Amino acid sequence: MTAVPLDILQARGADAFDPGFGVYVHWPFCAAKCPYCDFNSHVRHQPVDQPRYVEAFLAEMAAMRRLSGPRSVTSIFLGGGTPSLMHPATVDAILSGIARHWHVPDGIEITMEANPSSVEAERFRGYRAAGVNRVSLGVQALNDRDLKFLGRLHDVADALKAIRLAREIFPRMSFDLIYARPGQTVADWDRELKEAVSYAVDHLSLYQLTIEEGTPFYGLHKAGKLAVPDGEQSAILYEATQEFTAREGMPAYEVSNHARPGAESRHNLTYWRYGDYAGIGPGAHGRLTVGRARVATATERRPEAWLDRVASEGHGMVVQDVLEREEQADELLLMGLRLREGVDLARWQALSGRDLDPAREDFLIEHGFVERLGNSRLRCTPAGMLILDAVVADLAC
Ligand code: SF4
Repeated sequence: MTAVPLDILQARGADAFDPGFGVYVHWPFCAAKCPYCDFNSHVRHQPVDQPRYVEAFLAEMAAMRRLSGPRSVTSIFLGGGTPSLMHPATVDAILSGIARHWHVPDGIEITMEANPSSVEAERFRGYRAAGVNRVSLGVQALNDRDLKFLGRLHDVADALKAIRLAREIFPRMSFDLIYARPGQTVADWDRELKEAVSYAVDHLSLYQLTIEEGTPFYGLHKAGKLAVPDGEQSAILYEATQEFTAREGMPAYEVSNHARPGAESRHNLTYWRYGDYAGIGPGAHGRLTVGRARVATATERRPEAWLDRVASEGHGMVVQDVLEREEQADELLLMGLRLREGVDLARWQALSGRDLDPAREDFLIEHGFVERLGNSRLRCTPAGMLILDAVVADLAC
C-alpha cells in the first residue's frame, strides 16, 4: 500500500469538473454463487454476524472520511453480493453512519441492489423506512428455463412479485436482464424486451452474458460444453437492444444502461463521469480527491480477512495509491467513452497535458467508431461501443 504523502493531505484543490461524490457500500454475501459471476460475492452456510459488519463498516467510513475530508454526498449505492440479505436495521445503521460522516442532503438517490429470491414486502418497507429510495432488481431473465441455466434461485413468478412490490414501495426502480444466452435469437430477445418494458418504470440495465475466467461457465466453455453466441451474433443482439430501447423512449445512456431522460442512475453517472466515490466494505474500490491528488483505494476482498484488518488497522484498505495525471486521463477516457454524452475533452487535456492525436482521431471518425459533439466532447458511435476497449487503447496512446 502506498501511503498518501502528508503534503497533499491539505485543503482540496478547486476542481472545475466536479461530477459529484458518491458513497458505495459492498455487502459481500449471496445465498448461492451464480455460475457466470466473478463479483466479490461469497456464500456462508452459517448466519452472517451483521452487527459485527456494521461496526466494521462504520470504522472504515471514519477512515474514508479522514481521507476525503468534508463532502456533500450526491448519491449512495448499496451493492454486492446481495444487499437485500441485510436486515433493514443493518441498512439503517449504514445510512445513518454515512450521514454522520458526510453531509447527506435530503432526497439524494439512495439505491440498493436486491434479488427477487430475497425479497419480502416487510423487508422492502424496512429499507424504504431506512432511506432507500431506489431499488435495482437482479431479474436477469423472464423465462424459467434461462433463470435455471443462469443458476438463479428465483423464478419468473418471484421476479414479477418483486417488481410489483418495488414499484409500490420505492419512488424509483430498475431491473437487470442478461442477454446473449445460449441459443437466444433476436426474435426471442425482442419478445423478452417487450415484456420487460411493460414492467419497467424508467430504467433498465441490459448486460451481455460474458464468460469470465475463474467461473464455472468459463470451465464449461473451455471444455466445449457451453456454447454462447459468437461475436457477430452478440453484436446483432446488442444492436437490436439499442434500437428497441431507443424506440421505446429508453435509449442507452451508457453501454448497458437505458433510461428515460432524467431517470439515469445518478450514482453510476458519477463513476462514468469520473467523479469521486468512497468505496466501503470488502473488495470495494474508491477514487478520492485528497488535496491536489487523486487517490485510488481498494479494500481486502475476503470478508473475514477484511473484518480482521478493520479490527487491527481501523480500515480494510490494501491499496491507497496516488494516481499520476496520465493515469487519471486514461481512466477518464475509459469511463467517459462508455457514456452517450461522451467525454469532456477539455478535462482530458487538462489531465494529460496534451491534445488527442489528430491522425488517430480522424481515423476513428472516418471508420465510424467515434464522433465529435461540438468542439468540446467526443463519444463512441454504436459501432465504436462494440469495440470500446480497442477505441480507448487507440486514443490513449
Ligand atoms: S446474485 Fe449477483 S453477486 Fe451474487 S453470485 Fe449471483 S450474480 Fe454474483
